[in-house]
Amino acid sequence: MKTVNPVSKLVKDILAAAISENRDILTSWKTPAEDLDRLARRDYARCLRRQLSYGVVTQVVNNATRVWPSLNQAQLNPITQRRFERTARRITTDLKVHFQASPYIGPEGMALRGFYVQKQRRLLQRPIIYVNTAHQPGAVSSTFCHELGHHLTSRLFNSHDEGVHFFFDADYAAHLEDPIELAADVLVSLAGYPAAVARRIFAEPWNWGLIARTGRLSDAAFTSVRSHAETRFGIDFSSQWPAEQRLNYLAGMIHYAKLRWALLAEYDL
Ligand SMILES: [Zn+2]
Repeated sequence: MKTVNPVSKLVKDILAAAISENRDILTSWKTPAEDLDRLARRDYARCLRRQLSYGVVTQVVNNATRVWPSLNQAQLNPITQRRFERTARRITTDLKVHFQASPYIGPEGMALRGFYVQKQRRLLQRPIIYVNTAHQPGAVSSTFCHELGHHLTSRLFNSHDEGVHFFFDADYAAHLEDPIELAADVLVSLAGYPAAVARRIFAEPWNWGLIARTGRLSDAAFTSVRSHAETRFGIDFSSQWPAEQRLNYLAGMIHYAKLRWALLAEYDL
């Protein structure tokens, strides 16, 4: 009799439940314009201060640089799907994490970017990272970075929850209210915009008072962010993807850029 790998079975079960259990998120995924505007106006420095202190962010970065020494220093180069999977597999093997990467299109499946499941004493010996590879390669790499971020920061938050951390494209506003999600996103932002790049794009000292505020990106910053996303991550908003997909990628681009800006303005990272 063919034995079913218990991790693959669990991933399959979680994927099956992801869509039916997250109807509200899927509604915003289908109508991204309103959320997009809200994210664009939001003061990220304030959200960052509220969720993650300077000390916690420093610990997050220190934990990550042990695995990823060039984080925030060297620019990630665009990588092929194959090389990405090889690298991700190596990292997750070293870290003793089950790694699954497969396309999940399903009904509304594209809304899901990936998930992380912490070690569960009874069922799982190791945590699981799942990445939906139906997305374009730049998005797949950032999903992996976010899920890896959960793994690298799980101990910092003393979290005993044994649930699943889903990453939905439309759910960035919720990340701003949740230190665990925001810590994982901090690593995506630092990986996407190393310090030298961030200082070039977001250096707008005339906006910086005693208390940093990071509301809307200036037109110049937005143009630089967009061209950075195109050249470095292959995200081309003039492509043929469905409009809803492009708007969700745009929300992700704005979210990670503004978080990077806030990290610079608030914590000088
Ligand atoms: Zn997450």
